[in-house]
Amino acid sequence: MKVKLVSNILDANTAMAAENRRRFQQEKIFVLNLMSAPGAGKTSILEKTIARLKDRVSMAVIEGDICTTKDAERIAALGVEAVQINTDGACHLDANMMASALANLELNSLDLLVVENVGNLVCPAEFDLGEDLKAMVLSVTEGNDKPFKYPLMFRESKAILVNKIDLLPYTEFDVEALRRDLAEINPGAEVFLVSARTGEGIEAWASWLERKVKEKKDF
Ligand code: MG
Ligand code: ZN
Repeated sequence: MKVKLVSNILDANTAMAAENRRRFQQEKIFVLNLMSAPGAGKTSILEKTIARLKDRVSMAVIEGDICTTKDAERIAALGVEAVQINTDGACHLDANMMASALANLELNSLDLLVVENVGNLVCPAEFDLGEDLKAMVLSVTEGNDKPFKYPLMFRESKAILVNKIDLLPYTEFDVEALRRDLAEINPGAEVFLVSARTGEGIEAWASWLERKVKEKKDF
């Protein structure tokens, strides 16, 4: 019998991600993979997004963290089903972890599944989970020089949420410079200026996301 060798971790991940994607297609669930550095505001943006969408689309959240269930508890407090994955040290989610988390969800009742990845600007962008869309959060306190430093994540993300926009006057963050850099790295990206704290810009982002969810549902 011929032996098949899966030559590296990323090949194995791609195969598992394809299997996840097939399930999401079958159940017509739109899956968002939300990424950022630690502290950029993924969970806070998610809380505000849930407040806008939870009565309009049936949704659940998978929370990826190295340890603790803190973020899943914040989501569950809003009445949305949340599954926490603890990676025990791994700095990203992979398609296998995703598949295990799916066993805890009623997939056929869902329209939208949001995966909050581990806070890290590097390898989360390398591991396909089977999602429909990758989005990322860049907070203004991190600086506008990040796209060229972490090009893969900025290239892979269809939506880029610039968070903490309420703090803009207290930083050197240059929104126009960011737009210029993104025009080079990822010209098709949708850019949303938001503040999870004040709620500014959340409506535009949530409506955009809702349209994506409905497009898949009706397809
Ligand atoms: Mg979080
Ligand atoms: Zn990693």
